[in-house]
Amino acid sequence: MATEKTLVLLKPCTLQRGLIGEITSIFERKGLHLCGLKMMQLDDRILSEHYAHLAEKPFFQRVKDSMMAAPVVAMCWEGVGAIEVVRALAGPTNGRNAAPGTIRGSYSMSFQENIVHASDGPETAAAELRRFFKPEEIFEWTSCSDSFTYACDEK
Ligand code: ADP
Repeated sequence: MATEKTLVLLKPCTLQRGLIGEITSIFERKGLHLCGLKMMQLDDRILSEHYAHLAEKPFFQRVKDSMMAAPVVAMCWEGVGAIEVVRALAGPTNGRNAAPGTIRGSYSMSFQENIVHASDGPETAAAELRRFFKPEEIFEWTSCSDSFTYACDEK
């Protein structure tokens, strides 16, 4: 399985509820490798692109408004199979249906206010990382704990 990079957005609800550190530490403790991190105020243009697949939904504008209600924290995490690993950590969209132990299952009571965005596949991850990060904001660095995170044939 390949090493992948994926986009995570910690949503405005996460900032407002004082959960940025707690959620970030879940990805760190898992053994994912942090390649990019920044705070951003999103606008309608970037959100219309990011959520284009929801454009026909009745809640489209409401979801965009909730993503503009405060800044987000954008992160790039890397790891073997990172896209699926991060989606599994996040859990299903509706926090009320998400299993306890997942991020949404542990921290969200809502379909909309669900703590994190996580890329859902290799093409979307690449496009979303380009959307939220300039190339120079993604850092390639060597983790000295890699040999304790993976077996020698896993990475
Ligand atoms: P996910 O974030 O799990 O990949 P989607 O891409 O389908 O889910 O939706 C993007 C975001 O839009 C969700 O994370 C959630 O905040 C919001 N959303 C999706 N479906 C609904 C819904 N039925 N009601 C309210 N908000 C929704």
